[in-house]
Amino acid sequence: MKKVLRKLKALAVLNYDLFKHQNMTPPAPATLYTRIATDAASAMSRVPAVLPTEALSLLPPESELYRMFDEFNWFYFGGKLPPARIEYSTRMSSAGSFCSQERLIRIGRKYHELFPEEIYDTLKHEMLHFLFPTHGATFRKEAARIGASVRAKHHPLLCKPPKYLYVCPECGKEYPRQKRLRMASCGACSRSGFDARFKLVLVRLRTAKSAKRPA
Ligand SMILES: [Zn+2]
Ligand SMILES: [Zn+2]
Repeated sequence: MKKVLRKLKALAVLNYDLFKHQNMTPPAPATLYTRIATDAASAMSRVPAVLPTEALSLLPPESELYRMFDEFNWFYFGGKLPPARIEYSTRMSSAGSFCSQERLIRIGRKYHELFPEEIYDTLKHEMLHFLFPTHGATFRKEAARIGASVRAKHHPLLCKPPKYLYVCPECGKEYPRQKRLRMASCGACSRSGFDARFKLVLVRLRTAKSAKRPA
């Protein structure tokens, strides 16, 4: 037992030696100024040399998006929109999206890192989709009323190259698309709805391994 105690005592001395500073001096009596100085030094040591990208981003946190959702909901919709989930998406290239089944609004991070000032415009646009699934006449009217963009916004830099290229056989207008079109005719030539005479013709498939076989 004595032996163990002696060992512990020796270890304690060793420990103390490890942490003892060479020029350790008793601390000067603390004044307001020394306190500020030491606090500032310790605060500086906590700031990482390189800020994580998250901290550099100007985008508001998701909690702020929820707050704005509530604000817009009361201000523009009389509070009649049901609660939604809102999250940032790091993958999508578009400004925003809305999934009615999940009541989920996604805000595109890549897009808004380029255009941070548009974020509440996007939020309002996606909120309108609670009431109007498509960008039809009522959507456009409401968008004008609440000051939201009508079109889903993309940034060309962020867009993937289109998988398919369709062309109107009549006027030659090109329609680059990510998805295959089944029954689509040229919007410029067709009078109302689908017109078989102006059915778009597929002229190019995305090449190589990424091109899937036609579904
Ligand atoms: Zn939309
Ligand atoms: Zn055409």
